[in-house]
This record gives sequence, C-alpha cells and structure tokens, in this order.
Amino acid sequence: MQQSDPNQDRRRQRRPFLVSYGIVILIMLLLNAFLFPSILKSQIHEVDYGTFLKMLEENRLKIVQLEDEQIYFIDNEDDVYQTNVIPQDYAIVERLDKAGVSFGRVYRQQGILEYLLTNWILPFLPLILLATWFSRRVTKQMMGEGGMNAMMFGGKSGAKEYVVDDKTGIHFSDVAGQEEAKESLKEIVEFLHDPKKYEEIGAKMPKGALLVGPPGTGKTLLARAVAGEAEVPFFSIAGSEFVEMFVGMGASKVRDLFKQAGEKAPCIVFIDEIDTIGKKRDSGSGIGGNDEREQTLNQLLTEMDGFDATKGVVILAATNRPETLDPALLRPGRFDRRVPVELPDLAGREAILKLHGRKVKLDSGCDFNVVARMTPGASGAELANIVNEAALGAVRHGRSVVTQPDLQEAVDTILAGAQKKNAILSEKEKCIVAYHEVGHALVAALQHHSAPVQKITIVPRTSGALGFTMQVEDGDHALLSKEELLDKIATFTGGRAAEELVFGSVTTGASNDIEQATKLARAMVTRYGMSEDFDMVALETVNGAYLGGDSSLACSETTAAAVDAKVVELVKAQHAKAYALLSENRRKLDEISKYLYERETITGQEFMEILDRKDA
Ligand code: ADP
Ligand code: MG
Ligand code: ZN
Repeated sequence: MQQSDPNQDRRRQRRPFLVSYGIVILIMLLLNAFLFPSILKSQIHEVDYGTFLKMLEENRLKIVQLEDEQIYFIDNEDDVYQTNVIPQDYAIVERLDKAGVSFGRVYRQQGILEYLLTNWILPFLPLILLATWFSRRVTKQMMGEGGMNAMMFGGKSGAKEYVVDDKTGIHFSDVAGQEEAKESLKEIVEFLHDPKKYEEIGAKMPKGALLVGPPGTGKTLLARAVAGEAEVPFFSIAGSEFVEMFVGMGASKVRDLFKQAGEKAPCIVFIDEIDTIGKKRDSGSGIGGNDEREQTLNQLLTEMDGFDATKGVVILAATNRPETLDPALLRPGRFDRRVPVELPDLAGREAILKLHGRKVKLDSGCDFNVVARMTPGASGAELANIVNEAALGAVRHGRSVVTQPDLQEAVDTILAGAQKKNAILSEKEKCIVAYHEVGHALVAALQHHSAPVQKITIVPRTSGALGFTMQVEDGDHALLSKEELLDKIATFTGGRAAEELVFGSVTTGASNDIEQATKLARAMVTRYGMSEDFDMVALETVNGAYLGGDSSLACSETTAAAVDAKVVELVKAQHAKAYALLSENRRKLDEISKYLYERETITGQEFMEILDRKDA
C-alpha cells in the first residue's frame, strides 16, 4: 500500500494556499496604486485649495488640469502640484481664463476594458482564485492516493481500490502466526474464489466479519491478505475518512462505496477502525452532537442489509474497541462473524521476527527465539519495529549485518515505551499468572466431572484477562448434574488456590473467577434446588430473563440471609477441595506452570502428556 506521510501532505497542501494569498495581496497593492496615483508620483506637491488660488492670483501657474476630484497644476518652475478638495467653485473657469493660464478638463473616461477590470474582474479575482484553489484541493483529497482509480470510479467515496495481482498482493504467508484467525478467514477466501458454488448449494456467506484485537496485531494485514489470497479487488477505507468531510458527505460516501463494490463483485470492502463511525448511537452525544456520524452509521447499516450477499461482496472491518460498537452492527446479517486477532505467543513472536528478519541482513549469531522470550506481550507491529530498529542500530555502529546485541538494544528501545503504555507483564507477574491458570487446569483435570482442558494461555487477551484456560465440553450438555456444578466451582477457585499454595498471598487476578463461582453457587441454591437445607423450593424469580432482566430473591429477609450463608459455605468447601488437590499434586503444578511460563500457550494435549507422565 502506498502510504504517504500525512505531514508532508499537509505541507504540500499549504503551499498553494500561500501562493494564492500572495497573489491576493499583490492585487490589493496594484489596486491601491491605481486608485491613488500619488503613490506612484511621489514628487507631486500636495497643497490646499487656498494655495492654489493664491498661486493663480500671483500668476505663477502655467498649466491647470481639472479632474473630477482633483486639480493638477504646474507652476512656472515646472513643479507639479495637486490639490485634493474642490469646493463648489463655479467661478473657477472664469478665473483661469482671466489669469491666462492654459487649462483643460479631464474626465476620467474609462475604456470598456478598464471598466470591466476595475468593477468586475479585480474585485472578484481573489474570490475566484480562492475558489479554484479550494476545489482543486478537495478533488485531490477525494481522489486520495488511489489517484486514477478513484477518478475512474467517480472519485466520491475516497475508497482506494487496490487491484491485487500476484506481485503486489499480500498473502497469508505474509502474516506470521495468527493461525486461528487465518483459519476462520479461509472460508471467506474460498467463497470469494467461487461465489457460484455457494449460491448453487443455497449456502449464505456471512456478509461481514469483524477483526477484533489490540493495535498492531495484524488486523489490517490480514484483511489485505484475504484479498490477496482470493485475488479480488480490495476497497479499503478508514472509519475516520467517513466523518472528516462536510455534513451529509459520510452517508453519501458509504452509498457510493457500496455502489462501486457492487459493480466490482466479487470483492472485499474493508472498513478499518470502524469504531470511529460505529460507536453506540445513544451514548450521550449532546444536542445534535454527532448527527453526521449517526447518519453515516445508519447508511452503513442500510447498505449492509440491502445488498445481496450471494453476489460476492464481503465486508471486513477492524477494531480494537469492540465494546464501544453499536449493537446494531453486530446483529445477524451484518458483522455476525468475529475473528479474534490476539497478541502473539512465544512461537508466534518468533515467527513474526523471522518473517521480518528476512528483509534485513542477519549475522549468523542472531537468535530470534531469545528475542521472542524477551518480549512477552509485544504486538506484531512492535516486533517488526524491533527488527527495523536493530537494522538502524547496526548502521549506526558501522556494521553491515544485524547482530544479536543490535536486536537486544532494539528490544530495550521499543519496549521501554510499550512497557509503560500497555500491560506487558513483569517476570514475577507472568509467573503468578502461569500458576493461576495451571491451577484452574489441574483442578479441572483432577476431578471426574470436568470438561477436558483444550488450551491454556498466559498471553494477555483483548478482554483484559491476563490469561485463560479453555475447557471444551465433549458433546452437548443440556443437563448438568450437581457433581458437575460443584466441580465447576472448584475449578473456578483453582486459580486463587494455586496462588495461595505457591506464593502464600493472593492477587486481584481472580475477580472474574469469584464472580462466576458465586453466580453458580447461588443458582444451585436458589434455582436448581441443589442444597439440602432448602430442598426444592424456588427462592428466586426470574423477571424476563430473555429480555435481559434481572432475577430477584422471592423470599423473606431471614431466608435471604440463610441463602447467602449457604452460598458462602458451598464456595468455601470447593475452594478447600481445590487447594487440597493442588497441594497433593504440587510437583505437577510446578512442572506444568514452568512449561507454560516458557511457552505461554500450551495445548490440552501437551498438558495431559505432562500430567500423565510418571514422575522420575
Ligand atoms: P493492526 O491493523 O492490527 O493495528 P497492522 O495490520 O496495521 O495492525 O500491523 C502493522 C504492521 O505490523 C504490519 O504492517 C506488519 O508489518 C506487522 N505485523 C503485525 N502483525 C503481524 C504478523 N502476524 N505477521 C507479520 N507482520 C505483522
Ligand atoms: Mg490497522
Ligand atoms: Zn482465573
């Protein structure tokens, strides 16, 4: 993609601005000179009318020229005079005649050209110039970098079209790691390759997919890779481009964009940073505050509903703030597919470093694995930056290849800034998170009624979680037994239990676990009739649960207190069970935590292998 430096753009735009103002000022000066010739003829003596009369009486005048508003006269010494004000002196002609000077009257007769120039062209010239310059600037802006392309397509939407061929196209191979994201985008590629195949069978593709993840994780890159893989045109526009123009422009840009895309199908429309137009509509905008943005969003929704998905237009969008999006955007038939693009784990980081390392000359002693280990929590963009920074450092040091110390130095430079701004974990924190997650996983695995562990990761998530343990039920469970629920609660407490066991203190990392365990325990008591004390008595009424309503206790205050006590008892018992399980299996806890600490992400299979391994 041709990306130009926005500063340079602005500078380029400012230049004609200065020129046109220069011209305007010049014209003003000329105009002045024209209307007040005295500026040009500075040797003229200005005198008052009285002096003129006096000189006339003293016979010192040679030539007098009467004009509309001035009298010019020349005396016997050939000096030129001028008087400005003429009183209504009707006797002047008589006097001049009597004095015997040669005199004449000049009416400032304007030629037609002069008339047009002074009355019509000159006053409006600055305006005309300004208008021309402005309109040129606007068209330039609208054509964007796409230049010719945009012009060919009407140049209104500002959507640049990148016609992709094998030479310039980005492919999935240009995106390192992100296997899960690539996997879910592959279907879209298939569809774009051959929309007919899907149409014939009656399958409807999702109209849109939303790439969600922290900045710099490769969302834009992935979207372009989809276009490259499918070999279809790629329309890309940033959400902010819709709103920076005049009122009403955003909506018409959207309309235009979709019209173009319809003509070019199969193709991809990519809306980057969709949160700028897709924010929740009612979120406290002042009176008429964000009308323009709302109009644009409404138009986008209308267009997405309106077009025929079988034609092969796929809309991709990216955001790093999915929680701010208007729910309407996420409804079925719109961006109903979510593709998480998370920060890379150790293997992912190494792959990204290697990919970008190919573009620079490397010393044979470079070890990207070491660099990847030093950079937990770094994004793809930061890693790409590290490689580049290392290359710059090598040049600074007068080397012709990048060495390991260069990489080391680059890590320090790039991450020093990043460490402050986002949650890159310290070694100690990473260690705690590893134990916490393995605590969950171990407790789950050591019980008989828990779903198998699918994946454990300590790479921070978009959701803000520092790590998580994924369990996948084998098959659908419509009914959960009391034992299964109890095991679930134990699993929720496993993270905290591991922290207690290993570090002897606790952290804030368990807040979500606590919430979930409490909810479950409460539901067991009040809704599922799973406590001896209350038997099968409904203690809770659910108000319109389908409308997202709340549930409330339908019992006396004393019962409510008893329910609370029961909930505490339930959770406490499971917490104790989890703690006991972990301390019995302390060696496995240590072993797996260490393994996870190093890898950052491990599969359920790896987990089970270590667990089942006989201790030496
Ligand atoms: P996002 O859109 O998620 O903010 P970008 O797609 O703009 O991130 O990524 C910025 C740059 O970082 C890319 O151009 C690329 O050089 C690098 N990058 C990010 N993720 C990856 C990745 N998974 N593989 C290779 N390069 C990556
Ligand atoms: Mg981006
Ligand atoms: Zn937890």
